[in-house]
Formats: sequence, structure tokens, C-alpha cells
Amino acid sequence: MTSGGDAPGMNAAIRSVVRTCAYYNIECVGIYRGYQGMIEGDFKPMDARSVKGIINKGGTMLKSARSTEFRTKEGRQKAYDSLKEENVDGLVVVGGDGSFTGALIFNQEFGFPVMGIPGTIDNDIYGTTATLGYDTALNTVVDVIDKIRDTASSHNRLFFIEVMGRDAGHIALNTGVGAGAEEILIPEEDLGLERLTESLRRSKRSGKSSSIVVVAEGDKIGKSVFELKDYVDEHMHDYEVRVSVLGHMQRGGSPSCFDRVLASRMGVKAVESLLDGKTNFMVGLVNDKMNLTPLDQAIKGQSKINTELLRVSDIMTT
Ligand code: ATP
Repeated sequence: MTSGGDAPGMNAAIRSVVRTCAYYNIECVGIYRGYQGMIEGDFKPMDARSVKGIINKGGTMLKSARSTEFRTKEGRQKAYDSLKEENVDGLVVVGGDGSFTGALIFNQEFGFPVMGIPGTIDNDIYGTTATLGYDTALNTVVDVIDKIRDTASSHNRLFFIEVMGRDAGHIALNTGVGAGAEEILIPEEDLGLERLTESLRRSKRSGKSSSIVVVAEGDKIGKSVFELKDYVDEHMHDYEVRVSVLGHMQRGGSPSCFDRVLASRMGVKAVESLLDGKTNFMVGLVNDKMNLTPLDQAIKGQSKINTELLRVSDIMTT
């Protein structure tokens, strides 16, 4: 099942789970539309051939949904009844922390074995150095910033580019360093408006004719990219300021090789762990090895921002 926001690599994870089941001669059913489909019994048997041609596709062939009904005891009871009717013995959920919270509650109520695979572009989940879709999103964003820079440098413009990341600045920090941004604003660090304008003035004095500032949705200064533009317009007259909000295009597209490989590894580990009798874990990548983190820790723990990268970014913008 895929649940919550879609992410590139979810299809590759579905393929891996289905093929691992085929390898071990286990019957496998796909649950459509997340927990809502589970409640409604929207299941389809899947074999190795039913997942052909999807490894390179973005989105999720099983569709995703947000289900308010699953948040109620009655909804979860219906979901349990559907699974029992279909003779399902274990569940692999590809999703984010909300989906894992649902899985954990479901297990606590019915003792149903569950295993999580982290699928979200934000990389904001504890217990893995990379979530599915994160690497693809980084490459998509860097590609777009490169294109915007062409315009910025042709017109001596300053661009504020908003990227996804309400609670975590991983996308902003990594793409900012990767695309050579002059400043990076993230939720984990308060740069302050004055420091921002000072830094932009310094860039200008050092001979830069254009500037790119990458801003995470939830940046600590607490201003939207449009408010940032207004502030800089008012306090600095050296640049023409423009704003670009990248939005949902960051979620789409064909998964990178890294995400396809990660999804393949995670799917195998998830099925093998259920076969080993394990439950309530999330599969993750730690020190390039597959690792299991208890779901409650994955939900509550914080994925920390890379402080070494923050320092690198500071040095690169001098
Ligand atoms: P993303 O990171 O993309 O937002 P997510 O998995 O965190 O993904 P959510 O919308 O938070 O996405 O959760 C997905 C679904 O999980 C919800 O629609 C709901 O059905 C279920 N869910 C979330 N929290 C709970 C909860 N506390 N109890 C029961 N079910 C829940």
C-alpha cells in the first residue's frame, strides 16, 4: 500500500515488494488508495508480471489517499475486517510519518503485523539517511535552479526560490549548495532579515551581478517568499527581485537511479523482515546498510540537518 503524499520511487518499492513475495512464493495483494482503499476492500492480487514497466515511473500505480475514516476506531475495524476477508497476514506501508502513525495504532489495536517504507521527498524521517523520492526531488530542483540562474544572470536579478520543506530544510540546504545559491533559508536556523540583506550587499560588492536565495517553505525567518521580496525591495535597491515557487513539480518525474535502487533494497528488506516475524519497524538506510527502526522512534525522532553542510554552505558563499 502507498499512503500520504506520493513520491518518486514508490512504484519501484511496490515492484520490489511484489517480486520479493513472488520469490518466496507468497501471495501478494495491492491495496489501492491507501487506508481508504483498505477500509473499502479495494484490493487486487499482484504477481511478478503485474509490476512490469513501472520502475521508471513517478507517482504510484496503487494511488494514494488521505483517509479521515481510518482515524476512527470504526474505520480501522472495517479495514481489519477487509484484510481478514482477503486472508492478508502482513502489511507493507510506503508513506510518511502520518501513515506510520496509522500503521502503529492499527497494530496496537488488532495485533496486525506492519512494516514501513519511508516514501516522502522531504527526507524528514528519523532512521534513514534517505527517504524514497528525496534524491529525485534534489535533482529536479537543482535542474530548475540552474535554469532560473540563466535568467537571473542575464538580467542582474535576485531570485527567491521556494522549495518544499515545511519542517525540514534538507531539500533547501542540499539544492542550495548544489546549485551554488548565495543564501539558503531553512526551518532549522534563523538567519534574520538583516543578515540576509547584509549578505546580499556583500555579494553585490564582491562583483556578483545576480543572486539566488533558496528558501524552504517553513524557513525560520517566518516570512513567505513574497514578503521577503517586499522587504528586500524596500531595503535594497541594487537588484530587481523576482520570486519563483516551485510547488508540486518537485514531487513528480521519473525516479533517479539512487531512488530506484533504494526502493528495490527496501522492498526486499520489508518483506524478509515480516517473514522473520518482525513487526512495527521502518526499513531505512544507515551507513549504506538496510536497517530497522521501531516505528514509534521513526515517527517521534528528528531527522537532523547536516551541520557540516551548513558550514560548507557558509564557506561557499564568501
Ligand atoms: P506525507 O509526509 O507525504 O504527508 P504522510 O504519511 O505523513 O505522508 P498523512 O496524510 O499525514 O501523510 O497520513 C496518511 C494517512 O495516514 C492519513 O490520511 C490517515 O488515514 C492515516 N493517519 C495519519 N495519522 C493517523 C492517526 N493518528 N491515526 C490513524 N490514522 C492516521
